[in-house]
Amino acid sequence: MVASRSARERKAAAQAGDLARVRIEVDDADQFVYKITCTQCKVRDDRPWSAYRPGQDNGFMAAMDRWIFHLVERHPGAEAPCLEFLDAAQQRLQERRDAASAD
Ligand SMILES: [Zn+2]
Repeated sequence: MVASRSARERKAAAQAGDLARVRIEVDDADQFVYKITCTQCKVRDDRPWSAYRPGQDNGFMAAMDRWIFHLVERHPGAEAPCLEFLDAAQQRLQERRDAASAD
């Protein structure tokens, strides 16, 4: 569990690029919580911008999607391996919107 967590953390950090700090925590229910923090952006109360999502692979993907959109919106010149997945992230966002409007 611990080894796989740090391996995931390294992999996620590599994908997220230099502007991100990635942490994977384990919550009370023993599930991973992915936290991606921007090293440059502050939000309210001078706290760093961050995406925080629980779950295994789906949590990773959801947190990374939010980070990809943050990069595109706030750091248009930045380079990161995860930007390769921008199309897929936009598609997932569209699918979530379609699902929401179908209710
Ligand atoms: Zn930022």
